[in-house]
Amino acid sequence: MIKFYNTLTKKKEEFKSIEPQKAGIYTCGPTVYWFAHVGNLRTYIFEDILKRVLSYNGYSVKHIMNITDVGHLTSDSDSGEDKLEKGARQEKKSVWDIANFYTECFLKDLKLLNILDPTVLVKATDTIKEQIELIELLEKKGFTYTISDGVYFDTSKLEKYGKLWGEKEKTELRGRIEEVAEKKNPTDFALWKFSPKNEQRQMEWNSPWGVGFPGWHTECVVMSIENLGIPFDIHCGGIDHVSIHHTNEIAQAEAAYEKIMSNYWMHGEFLNVKEGKMSKSLGNITTISDLKNKGISPLAYRYQCLNTHYRQKMNFSDESIEFSQNTLEKLYERASELKIAPKTPLTKASEEYEKQFLDFINDDLNIPSALALTWDILKDKELSDYEKYSLLIEFDKVFGLRITDIDFNKKDLGEYILKTINEEGLPILTNNIDIVPEEIIAMIKERVNARNDKQWGLADELRERIKQKGWLVEDSENQTIIKQIKKEDA
Ligand code: AMP
Ligand code: ZN
Repeated sequence: MIKFYNTLTKKKEEFKSIEPQKAGIYTCGPTVYWFAHVGNLRTYIFEDILKRVLSYNGYSVKHIMNITDVGHLTSDSDSGEDKLEKGARQEKKSVWDIANFYTECFLKDLKLLNILDPTVLVKATDTIKEQIELIELLEKKGFTYTISDGVYFDTSKLEKYGKLWGEKEKTELRGRIEEVAEKKNPTDFALWKFSPKNEQRQMEWNSPWGVGFPGWHTECVVMSIENLGIPFDIHCGGIDHVSIHHTNEIAQAEAAYEKIMSNYWMHGEFLNVKEGKMSKSLGNITTISDLKNKGISPLAYRYQCLNTHYRQKMNFSDESIEFSQNTLEKLYERASELKIAPKTPLTKASEEYEKQFLDFINDDLNIPSALALTWDILKDKELSDYEKYSLLIEFDKVFGLRITDIDFNKKDLGEYILKTINEEGLPILTNNIDIVPEEIIAMIKERVNARNDKQWGLADELRERIKQKGWLVEDSENQTIIKQIKKEDA
């Protein structure tokens, strides 16, 4: 039995799919006006784990994700600017170029994080006709009204508006939406916005109400229901979508089709930094390229996400990601030792571990406990190396850490270990110092001598000079670790 926490009912519930052994999932995709930050990506990692857990349980998963390339405004009250039009103006590019460029970047990030592709990826701008049809249906049913800047949904007409909200969302809403003079209710939202009179938009379309563009919440209703039917099984997103975006998706779907939209609603918690939430507007973001440039594998970030339950806030710092990278490297090292073990029969203990693993992952994606179990297995003296490796690669179907792709060269580790990451973002740990330039090796040797002579000042100075040449030097107990600071390929 699989249990998920359902935001709709505010409790953990047994997952019952509409069709046996099939799961239809819709996840809100990125707004492609800038690079995704690791906070955004935490949400996609959580959704990837959800898919993998369902597949592990034998479900065939149909996953739909949208690309928001129009209509997401800078203000939650529908009074702000379209994020893409603004981005295009700032970068002096066409909106279409901006959308294509950041979509490509996003897809590359997903690959580096080993996030499985969606079954269907749809762009909002490819479904304008269907969005207009949905708004027409809402109009026919009496849920809309028109004001000077667009067509709006009248939330007071829907008896159960806001059924996803708990106390937290009700409080949060007060800070996120303002009274707008012409709107009938503060929670009313735009279905179709008219192009501003004083400025030429790059993306605009004709509609029965005038030239303009669709509101953000409409696209997800169209793209999910067109591909999955109504109701469908699971709708996911970041926790911030509960109060407005998902609430307004539900409002439109239920008003138009008089059916529940999705049976389960699942939300991933935020990634925070010291000052609070990681967000582009606060200027505190880290991207996947930032990690790579520091020699951190994107999979180390994935590991950090696995280690925190998706409904708990997670903190991100240099220390936290270093810790995850080191732990992941230990896991890879253990895996490469175990990989060469001769085959032995699988025992009852193995079976028992597999059962425990399944219990954890099926308990609302308790991945942190599944990871802890994995470390217990690696320490268990009763299990053979072959059994350990078999369990590890089995569990990695859910973890997605690419255990089988890693090949650590652990043979006769010498004085130097080189840590770096390859183009795919996988860590390399090797004693093959051939790839370190002669000049750097000479400086490292000089520094080792300086340290042996307790000339700490000289050692620090050398460390700095080596760093300027693109290499980091770290001292561990009896080894010098060299890391390449990988510059993003231009
Ligand atoms: P956006 O591209 O702005 O539409 O956001 C994409 C996804 O990232 C949404 O599901 C957001 O809820 C989520 N998100 C934004 N900031 C964070 C954060 N700091 N931590 C976790 N998820 C976030
Ligand atoms: Zn959405």
